Amino acid sequence: MKQAIIIRYCEIHLKGKNRGFFEKLLKDNIKKSLRGIKCTFSVMHSRYLIEDFNETDLEIIESKLKKIAGIHTYSIARVVGSNLEEITNSSLELFKYKKGTFKVETNRADKKFTPNSVETSRYLGGKILEKYSENLKVSVTNPNTLLYVDIREDGKTFVYTDVVHCMSGMPVGSAGNGLLLISGGIDSPVAGYMMCKRGMKLNALHFHSFPYTGQAAKEKVIELSKKVGEYNGGIKLYVVSFTEIQQKIHQFCPDEFMITIMRRFMMRIAERLAVMLKDQTIITGESLGQVASQTIESITSSNSVVKMPILRPLIAFDKNEIIDISRKIDTYETSILPYEDCCTVFLPKFPAIRPNLQKVIDAESKLNVEELIDNVFKNIEKIQL
Ligand code: ATP
Ligand code: MG
Repeated sequence: MKQAIIIRYCEIHLKGKNRGFFEKLLKDNIKKSLRGIKCTFSVMHSRYLIEDFNETDLEIIESKLKKIAGIHTYSIARVVGSNLEEITNSSLELFKYKKGTFKVETNRADKKFTPNSVETSRYLGGKILEKYSENLKVSVTNPNTLLYVDIREDGKTFVYTDVVHCMSGMPVGSAGNGLLLISGGIDSPVAGYMMCKRGMKLNALHFHSFPYTGQAAKEKVIELSKKVGEYNGGIKLYVVSFTEIQQKIHQFCPDEFMITIMRRFMMRIAERLAVMLKDQTIITGESLGQVASQTIESITSSNSVVKMPILRPLIAFDKNEIIDISRKIDTYETSILPYEDCCTVFLPKFPAIRPNLQKVIDAESKLNVEELIDNVFKNIEKIQL
């Protein structure tokens, strides 16, 4: 049996004059993702088509399509010759195990094909009822199963019933570049996924505090970055040592501002790296009120040290909503493995929940901020995933 995959996009339809740019980018992203898999790829009137693949590769192709931002849905169609006999036989095959109500929808690009669309639908509906009258009934308004018959101009017809929903969103690379601050927790991988979905191409940055945080914690972040990278056409992870900065803050600044000052350093380092990488924004997994460092005062304090916009796609999400997405993108099980994060090193008993910006600035003035940051940049590890 010959099969084809019909791929549809969504929001690109709204793009007016720029539509060509988005269509080409999505096409390139799909082709890149399918590299190494035997198949042919073509464009078919605002849809894409994958054909000539091995049946054994179908599962892997589907799993890849589900991770490409910009794809709205796809269908796996049976490909038959454009004649009533072949179309009828494959339609009957598709309804072998179906129950409930159905409707047939025919689209006839080949106007030379007879009978016309309405008559073809009626004919096929009759044949299906004739064979499966015990299990099936017609419903024009709300059918359980829709049979699509797509009669093309090239003598081929696609017959299918299922439409699989994918990520939707915009193709990665269409909405600029961002630097994702990734920890080993649940939130930041989800934040990264959300930005990929809107078309942003990501790099990732992780702070570790060797020897306070171990190799296992780093491996975990590598694993999570890899998973985010599956939605991003791969990802480069930059690993920065945060130990010296934390020790200095611990030594010279009041305990209550430990986290606040640490986060200001994270943002400064992120901005400097982002500029080097030509990233236009910093992305975090913060969610308002989730922990002490995620109050509006804390956010204001970390925003104030950088000029670059900081995007926080999860800011208004509840933890449960974030967990749901992390399950869907398969990062949850990795995220909940026990680990130490640099943020938990030297954690004060009573952190300032609403830090006063002037007091934070005064506390921080005990440190040589520039020198500490310069030191970090002497030794950055880059991992291509
Ligand atoms: P997550 O679940 O993403 O770890 P969280 O709820 O633990 O977030 P915080 O520890 O306050 O919250 O971190 C807030 C955000 O700061 C994270 O979502 C992430 O973007 C960034 N961040 C925290 N720790 C690190 C780290 N070690 N390296 C890079 N970014 C970090
Ligand atoms: Mg965390």
